[in-house]
Amino acid sequence: MKILVIEDEFKLAEYLRKGLTEEGFVVDVANNGIDGLHLAVEGQYDVIVLDRMLPGIDGLGVMAALKQSKQTPVLMLTALSRVEDRVSGLQSGADDYLVKPFAFSELVARIQVLMRRVTPGQTLAEATMLKLADLEVDLLRRRASRAGQRLDLTAKEFNLLTLLLRRQGEVLSRTEIAEQVWNMNFDSETNVVDVAIRRLRSKLDLPFDRPLLQTMRGMGYVLEDRPS
Ligand code: CA
Repeated sequence: MKILVIEDEFKLAEYLRKGLTEEGFVVDVANNGIDGLHLAVEGQYDVIVLDRMLPGIDGLGVMAALKQSKQTPVLMLTALSRVEDRVSGLQSGADDYLVKPFAFSELVARIQVLMRRVTPGQTLAEATMLKLADLEVDLLRRRASRAGQRLDLTAKEFNLLTLLLRRQGEVLSRTEIAEQVWNMNFDSETNVVDVAIRRLRSKLDLPFDRPLLQTMRGMGYVLEDRPS
């Protein structure tokens, strides 16, 4: 779950980096529109948080350039709250809009919704709840349970589970998992992914009769409910 924050106010950018990292996201920060656009185009992000007023290229310019090559959802931040500014922001292709100053919890809730690409008619609670068989993950409260029993997960285990669950049925390589959960390039010297998978499996699957986390030898891991 990678987020790119493009924000030139240094204090706000660092506050967002710290807060979103604590929420379990992997965060990159750019302090101007040019660097931000470069990262946005080159990288793989789940959501981009984009400030409207930026040096270099402003938020609307970044948005216009970005929408030609990427589908990444964008949440635009702005100090401007006039209706026409909001409208021009949304017309530029931003998926959502937040006016400064905002509550951090609201930012997180909106990011979660954008990640889920909420379908019309869904409530926020529905959009931020992921399910597979008897497994339930509440993204807003950061809680996971199986068959109604709370799973006691570390922050990294929770992020790993969320990644696998969002992409359920899809085989994820160790490299991709390392990049998405630890923001690191996979190094064959380390077995951090395998260790984390083993720990997650001991909590997620071992106490239950039906395993959900499958190993695909030589390929990676997949979360799916296989009929026995
Ligand atoms: Ca700004």
